[in-house]
Amino acid sequence: MGAWDVDLHEIIIVGAGIAGLTAARTLQDMGFDSVVLEKSKGIGGRCATRRLGEGIFDHGSQFFTVREPAFQELVDGWMLRGAVKQWTHGFPVIGDVTELAGHPRYCGVDGMTSMAKAMAEGLDIRREHRVKRVTEARACWQIEVEGGVRMRAGVLVLTAPVPQALRLINDENTWRIGAALSPLLVIHYSPCFAAMALLDGPSGLPVPGRPASRRVPFPGLPTTSARASRPARSR
Ligand SMILES: Cc1cc2nc3c(=O)[nH]c(=O)nc-3n(C[C@H](O)[C@H](O)[C@H](O)COP(=O)(O)OP(=O)(O)OC[C@H]3O[C@@H](n4cnc5c(N)ncnc54)[C@H](O)[C@@H]3O)c2cc1C
Repeated sequence: MGAWDVDLHEIIIVGAGIAGLTAARTLQDMGFDSVVLEKSKGIGGRCATRRLGEGIFDHGSQFFTVREPAFQELVDGWMLRGAVKQWTHGFPVIGDVTELAGHPRYCGVDGMTSMAKAMAEGLDIRREHRVKRVTEARACWQIEVEGGVRMRAGVLVLTAPVPQALRLINDENTWRIGAALSPLLVIHYSPCFAAMALLDGPSGLPVPGRPASRRVPFPGLPTTSARASRPARSR
């Protein structure tokens, strides 16, 4: 038996962020089994929550909105299960008494990863499985995971940020499908800083804890949120 004759799966999804979990959930609803490989200990990707002392920080996405009925149905389900809450209906300009009557902004009840955890229930997610390389083979994909694990899949779904995903498939064989990949080569990501500060008193930010983006107290930071004012949080 060769090294690649083991562990064949119908579908392998790389990344347990919102995209990977959505793909796995959708496929499961359609009757397909998939395995999700995630390099980190936690899930959620850039929907990231970190605990530090008394603080809980959402250092990736801080809220989300709903534009599609199908997504609303999903969000209603998460709310029923206590994973997600409506946070606010808008953000005031500092110093203004603007009525917050916009569309709802939702957040995780115990940090933004609550949503990912709700989506992950019942899925086969292999954490601390960093994919090193994927190559095309006859009628399947070969996936090399750090630590020597090798897997094969009939279908491969890559959900890592595009430059990272392209690095995984930067292989002589795989580039035979180069024409399909070339539109992805022009995608660039802009880096950003996320600062986490544990305050020893009230933040002074107006309710709901985040000013409108165009007026922030700290120049250079695009948005600022204080978690203490979010609903159903212990802090
Ligand atoms: C600071 C910040 C603030 C944001 N604020 C908001 C907001 O307020 N509202 C909003 O809607 N959006 C916001 N976003 C954007 C939002 O977080 C992302 O669009 C979304 O989370 C992306 O999800 P994704 O699943 O596509 O990718 P990711 O979340 O990046 O998931 C990719 C996953 O793949 C894993 N992975 C990568 N490489 C490998 C590998 N080789 N092997 C195995 N696993 C791998 C990663 O660990 C990760 O878990 C924000 C983003 C940032 C960074």
